Amino acid sequence: MLGWVHIGKWFRPAAEPCLLCGQWLRSSPSERRSVPVRMEQPRRVLMQLCDACMASIPWIRRPICLTCGRAEACGDCARRRETHFVRSRSAVRYDASMKAWLALYKYRGHERLELLLSAMLAFAFERMCLERGVSVRQASSYFHAVVSVPLADERLEERGFNQADRMASALARWYGLKHEHLLSRLHHTEKQSLKSRRSRMLDMQGNFALSASSGRLAVLRSSELRRIVLIDDIFTTGSTMNECARVLRMARPSFAESDIQVYGVLWARS
Ligand SMILES: [Zn+2]
Ligand SMILES: [Zn+2]
Repeated sequence: MLGWVHIGKWFRPAAEPCLLCGQWLRSSPSERRSVPVRMEQPRRVLMQLCDACMASIPWIRRPICLTCGRAEACGDCARRRETHFVRSRSAVRYDASMKAWLALYKYRGHERLELLLSAMLAFAFERMCLERGVSVRQASSYFHAVVSVPLADERLEERGFNQADRMASALARWYGLKHEHLLSRLHHTEKQSLKSRRSRMLDMQGNFALSASSGRLAVLRSSELRRIVLIDDIFTTGSTMNECARVLRMARPSFAESDIQVYGVLWARS
């Protein structure tokens, strides 16, 4: 295998290996038109995937639940008592191959995978722009900040990075948006996937707070900040997204009259 790749290098100097699997790309970038992202940088990243890897991405092209963007009928949004985010969109369905891709990134921290996952997230962001009637080039005048869902300190130490924050930073760079760190996580919760939906919802209450530093608070209180893009990797029931949105909206003196609108942009909908 390695030898083959090596020989390939000699005979096809112009070819590039797939960003994910390392197979040599057979088609030229101009032939790979199925890339559903318009902005140049994330588009270029996605073009470095081979046809097979590209075809395995379960893009959510037609959201059925208009609240969370799920590709099928959604009980989570119907059951939620109060929704504090305007809407949320995820780029892909969280199927077995996406689980494998995320695991690879989370536990090995490949830089290439970080770029790839961020470029996929761009699809959800561009969909959000489209639905708001904003062109991707004007996104930075419509959305005032990109904020990521913070990880608990213990988790951050364990892993060394917060993937949501990395994706937020790539998105901000590509679309010219401001990346602000406005939220902090108050305490560590047990692994979410092991819990029932009811205990998850109760758990999220009080889990997040506005960042305490005065500079951050000034940003939050400024009336310039109204439309916030909130980034996370996976939307499971929406309780994390909802709680973060609630906390962000509380930055205004009166919660009931808060003019802060939170738009969730996530990599995957489970
Ligand atoms: Zn590939
Ligand atoms: Zn939903």
